[in-house]
Amino acid sequence: IETKLPKVGTTIFTVMSQLAVQHNAVNLGQGFPDFDGPQSLRDALAEAMNSGRNQYAPMTGIPKLREQIAQKTERLYGRKVNADTDITVTSGATEAIFAAVAAVVRPGDEVIVLDPCYDCYEPAIDLVGGRAVHVPLSLPDFSVDWQRVKDAITPRTRMIMVNSPHNPSGAVFSAQDLDTLAALTRDTEILVLSDEVYEHIIFDGLPHQSVLRHAELADRSFVVSSFGKTYHCTGWKVGYCVAPRTLSAEFRKVHQYLTFCTFSPAQWAFAHVLEHDPQHYLDLPAFYQEKRDHFRDLLQGSRFQLLPVRGAYFQLVDYSAISDKDDLNFCEWLVREAGVAAIPVSAFYETAPAAKIIRFCFAKNDKTLADAAERLRAL
Ligand code: PMP
Ligand code: GLN
Repeated sequence: IETKLPKVGTTIFTVMSQLAVQHNAVNLGQGFPDFDGPQSLRDALAEAMNSGRNQYAPMTGIPKLREQIAQKTERLYGRKVNADTDITVTSGATEAIFAAVAAVVRPGDEVIVLDPCYDCYEPAIDLVGGRAVHVPLSLPDFSVDWQRVKDAITPRTRMIMVNSPHNPSGAVFSAQDLDTLAALTRDTEILVLSDEVYEHIIFDGLPHQSVLRHAELADRSFVVSSFGKTYHCTGWKVGYCVAPRTLSAEFRKVHQYLTFCTFSPAQWAFAHVLEHDPQHYLDLPAFYQEKRDHFRDLLQGSRFQLLPVRGAYFQLVDYSAISDKDDLNFCEWLVREAGVAAIPVSAFYETAPAAKIIRFCFAKNDKTLADAAERLRAL
């Protein structure tokens, strides 16, 4: 049949995780922790399943969870959002991204994405007949060149997608970035999709510059987050979207037919931990900063050159001192010969830069990181 997604194969995360299994490698490729979330969360899930919380949840998410998300949003970002009209619980951030794009992007519309960008953005745009317009982030620090974004805007631009803390680079937005984005989209029809799944994984005391802190921008944005990242349970696939009432109404028209609702017991469990253990996400920056610092220390003395990491749980490294293979070939070689799986950064680009960079995930136990680092130092 004629494919609707000619550029798409199997995601690099699946490919690398399969190779990791095949070669019995340490898997620092696909981004997921190799440890569990809080015991209280898992207990709350079991409790929900054992107390009859097993039927359809309300389409928009259970009220108690939406209320907790609203409280967190106000506490952390100073924005009052209406739990009934502005918050929708989704089956992971992935579903939220698809629903937001499908809700507002019309055939022929352009959506600006900043490369390297997360791999589900472009297929979501393509499937609704939109066109992704790729603007590269500036090396070496993966900052946004807003002049280039401005130059990419046309009368057909419907949406700009941003992601801070950023996968794969770990770059984070400043308040100035938000001001500039607000200025660029002021008095236009352009909407913003802000992917903030790593909102609680940010280092060196930097504040997370959520779009929700910026009243003007928040009024035209979908802000997407994921409990998978925050609570070490990527396999549960629960996320949410915060957007003003009118945008949320359109979003929900799609969500109700994409999945209708999200796994009920997990919603009760997240509502429980948000209410009873708000410290968990406040402790996350220190928790992951220690892992970042530990992994970087372990790689000292290797021939990998470490790029700075300000947020998220990925370490980019330049491997040009080790090999002149391209990044996909290097990752295939690395998993086979060194027994460590990584992700080639070109997977996040339309046109990959010349730099030889791959991504390691450091959301791992110390022993996993030590095993991997020992293999990497030997190269
Ligand atoms: N956006 C980014 C930047 C991500 O890294 C990920 C996931 N790993 C997602 C979205 C998807 O999140 P979820 O697993 O909740 O669908
Ligand atoms: N977001 C994860 C990553 O960047 C992967 C999620 C997935 O496998 N789809 O590694």
